[in-house]
Amino acid sequence: MIGLAQGALDHTKSYIKEREQFGQPISDFQGVQFQIAEAATNLEASRLLVYNAARLKDQSKDFLVPAAMAKLHSSRMAQNVTSLCVDLYGGYGFASEYPVEKYYRDSKIGTIYEGTTNMQLQTIAKVLLK
Ligand SMILES: Cc1cc2nc3c(=O)[nH]c(=O)nc-3n(C[C@H](O)[C@H](O)[C@H](O)COP(=O)(O)OP(=O)(O)OC[C@H]3O[C@@H](n4cnc5c(N)ncnc54)[C@H](O)[C@@H]3O)c2cc1C
Repeated sequence: MIGLAQGALDHTKSYIKEREQFGQPISDFQGVQFQIAEAATNLEASRLLVYNAARLKDQSKDFLVPAAMAKLHSSRMAQNVTSLCVDLYGGYGFASEYPVEKYYRDSKIGTIYEGTTNMQLQTIAKVLLK
């Protein structure tokens, strides 16, 4: 989910620097810049959660909750980031000729396989409340 979101964001950063509306690239609009900054921040947070869970596993420490938190956060983040990317491509975001439509569709599986979102929440809550 990290790589998928990063790929969508990379494509989108290039696209919004090329696409012009009202006589300027849409990346010049502060509203668009803020959305990209939010997406990049959430992506980085997910990446660090994943690295932290991997670090704990490598050190043979308990990584159950950190891994569940990483999966929960990353799958939601990927949906949100790829959804923003579709929005920023405008009408082209909906078309299969452009890459972000597939990133968006593929992001949905992250909340389902390898433990659904509800299962991650259950795992986290069970440990926190035991
Ligand atoms: C593309 C793809 C690849 C897959 N690859 C694999 C694979 O390689 N290996 C493998 O073993 N499986 C794989 N799966 C299966 C996947 O792991 C399951 O689809 C997933 O675990 C959800 O199970 P389910 O489809 O039976 O949904 P259900 O168990 O019917 O769940 C449906 C909904 O109900 C919720 N729910 C169910 N029980 C509870 C509960 N007790 N409390 C709260 N909410 C609950 C779920 O969170 C979900 O939102 C794959 C699925 C897909 C779509």
